[in-house]
Amino acid sequence: MQTGSIRLFRIRGIQLSVHFTFLLLIGYVAWQGWSSEGSTGAIVNVVSILVFFACVVLHELGHSFVARAFGVEVPRILLLPIGGMAEFSGLPRRPAHEILIALAGPAVNFALILLLSFFTPIPTWRAVISLDLEPLQLLFVMNLMMGTFNLLPVFPMDGGRVLRALLAQRLPYLQATRWAVGTGKVLGLAGILVMVFVFRHFMGAVLFLFIMIAGELEYRTVLRQETEERRWRELLDRLYVRPPESHESLP
Ligand SMILES: [Zn+2]
Repeated sequence: MQTGSIRLFRIRGIQLSVHFTFLLLIGYVAWQGWSSEGSTGAIVNVVSILVFFACVVLHELGHSFVARAFGVEVPRILLLPIGGMAEFSGLPRRPAHEILIALAGPAVNFALILLLSFFTPIPTWRAVISLDLEPLQLLFVMNLMMGTFNLLPVFPMDGGRVLRALLAQRLPYLQATRWAVGTGKVLGLAGILVMVFVFRHFMGAVLFLFIMIAGELEYRTVLRQETEERRWRELLDRLYVRPPESHESLP
C-alpha cells in the first residue's frame, strides 16, 4: 500500500497500482448490473469496466515506453476511478519530447482501433447512440472515445500537453504552462456546461472539474519550481564573481 493504493504487478519494471477508490468503482458497477439484470448483469458490467481499464493501462504504457526512450523513469502507473496516470520522474522540457510522449497514449488507442477494424464491422452512429454493439464494437468505441477525448487541449490531458509544448517553443515554460492551463480551464468549463445541460451526465462534469483542478495544481508546481530555480540562480549570481571577459562590454 502506498498513499491509499494497492500494488498489483509490474509490467517491464513499471509498477501497476490501483487506488482503493477504484475498488469502490468496481463494487458500484457490479451493484448497478446486479440491480438491473442480476448476476449476469453484474458480471457483464465488471468485465466491461476491467476491459476498459486494460485499454487505459495500454494507453499509459504508450506514454511510459516513449518517456523511457527519452531517459525519463516511470516508477508507477496508478489507476483511479477517473482514469490512469503514469508517474514520471520529471517531465522533459524539450517540446519535441513532450509532444511525442503525450501523443503516444492516444496513438495506442488508435492502433487498437485499427486492429479491431480487421475483426469487427465499424459500428454505425445509430448503433453507438442506441448502444446496440457487439463486444468488439464496444471496445472499438471505447478506444475511439479514449483516444479522441485525451486529445482535447484541456491541460493536463494529452492534447493540453501538446498545446503547452507548442507554446513553449515560443514562450518561456512557465508562461506556456499558464496559457495551456488557462485554455484548459475555458474548455473544461465549456465541457462541464455541455455535460450538465446537453448530456445530463454529471459524472462527465465531475471529470472535467477534476481535470481543471489537476491543471491548476500542475501550474502551481511549475511556478514553485521556477521560483526556486530563480532564487538559486540569484544566490549563485551573488556568490559568483564573473571573470572580466564574461562581461558583455565588447563593441
Ligand atoms: Zn494520455
